[in-house]
Amino acid sequence: LIEINDVHKSFGDVEVLKGIDISIGHGEVLAIIGKSGSGKSTLLRCINGLETIDRGSITIGGNHLHGTAADLRRLRLQVGMIFQQFNLFPHLTAGRNVMLAQTVVKKTSESEAETVARDVLASVGLSDKFDVYPDKLSGGQQQRVAIARSLAMKPVALLCDEITSALDPELVGEVLAVVRSLARGGMTLAMVTHEMQFAREVCDRVIFMHEGRVHETGAPEDVFGAPKTAELRQFLGMAN
Ligand code: ATP
Ligand code: MG
Repeated sequence: LIEINDVHKSFGDVEVLKGIDISIGHGEVLAIIGKSGSGKSTLLRCINGLETIDRGSITIGGNHLHGTAADLRRLRLQVGMIFQQFNLFPHLTAGRNVMLAQTVVKKTSESEAETVARDVLASVGLSDKFDVYPDKLSGGQQQRVAIARSLAMKPVALLCDEITSALDPELVGEVLAVVRSLARGGMTLAMVTHEMQFAREVCDRVIFMHEGRVHETGAPEDVFGAPKTAELRQFLGMAN
């Protein structure tokens, strides 16, 4: 579904991605781990077209991400991205937050957008929060609204960048439960996460990034259970 070939990305003279090759299949659930500054967020931003790439290629469903501006806009609609900060509009209800991108970007009618919004809010366990403003929701609920907002665009894949990192520990579980149900439902997911136990249970494959490269990759039981490289062992806090 998503093919990433020899992707390079620099900021100024600092090369942050040094030739990334990853292939993500339909329905595959990928965890991306690695220490701070290894390029995880930059990689997700490149996949979503939020950053341009300097070299290599990224295709989504066979379409190149570096076509015309119109192509890029169309492709970006197909890939949802969820961030650590929920970025909901505070002056709009949960329901209106979920409806907005549909009516503005996709030109969906109000009534159709509302139907979809109620549907996706229900799917993240928030069917009773349609008319509630973000400041009346917990962090976990706000993040679930943000997930619903992405789902409303009917993405072919979802990218999640440390979506539980800003949450109080007791709220992490409800957000991970939503991700787990999306994974079970066949959604293609690439998630940067520090939740190693979750990655182990839910992900099909783990990618360990180190200094702008995919340093080690494999099934969760191998990556976590039998890491091959010293860098990964160190990252996981194992003795070398
Ligand atoms: P973290 O775990 O802290 O989120 P990360 O693996 O997501 O780290 P990135 O955010 O991808 O790392 O950053 C990789 C490197 O690129 C860092 O050295 C960062 O300072 C640099 N960088 C990222 N975005 C920019 C930018 N817009 N301009 C300049 N440098 C940037
Ligand atoms: Mg990051």
